Amino acid sequence: MTPSTRKIRLILDLRRRGITNTDLLSAFERVPREDFVPDAFLDQCYEDIALPIGYGQTVSQPSVVATMLQALEIESGHKVLEIGMGSGYQTALLTYLCRRVYAIELHKELQREAEKRLYALNRNNFTSMAGDGSLGWPQQAPFARIISAAAADDVPRKLAEQLDDGGILILPIGGEKEIQKIVKVVRVGDEFEIEDLGPVRFVPLVQNSS
Ligand code: SAH
Repeated sequence: MTPSTRKIRLILDLRRRGITNTDLLSAFERVPREDFVPDAFLDQCYEDIALPIGYGQTVSQPSVVATMLQALEIESGHKVLEIGMGSGYQTALLTYLCRRVYAIELHKELQREAEKRLYALNRNNFTSMAGDGSLGWPQQAPFARIISAAAADDVPRKLAEQLDDGGILILPIGGEKEIQKIVKVVRVGDEFEIEDLGPVRFVPLVQNSS
């Protein structure tokens, strides 16, 4: 099977799992996941599995990425904050869905490599930095949408506070050994409405205790 046949099979699979947002499905069609995984895993790049990207991290499972992005209800004019840039794969998807992406990655080397990959694919509507995403990006706030690819113990207050009124934050919650769940936080004025979207497994969001 060629990579493009595998990619089509993956997209059909996402549709079967309830991914109906056509902009999102076409973003999956446009982003070459083979450019975001190490050579040793090329034959598996369109399997619905997480794959190692170095530094003990992984590029997330496509169906999990799709479920979270669909729940984010992105519009083309949106400014989106992404935490846990990793390989840059999800950043690439986001660049097709919104006006501008602000991406934060804890590991400097991963952030640099991801940035290079995105520029090589002519994705230019993003800004990235290395740092602790649990603090958000106060200089660029507020954001219409925030998504974290790394799990936190609880909703980081500093992140939720960087949402626009009506803004949505999607993130996994729960410790490494627990069953984690995806949570949707909607800002309504100074209140935050929290909805549980179901179980999932993610790497931990490293947070400074200070
Ligand atoms: N979206 C990524 C998935 C990366 S896995 C992709 O498509 O490849 C989660 C990432 O979150 C890892 O790269 C990890 O280094 C990063 N991470 C963990 N804690 C973080 C933090 N506090 N701030 C920013 N990134 C963090």
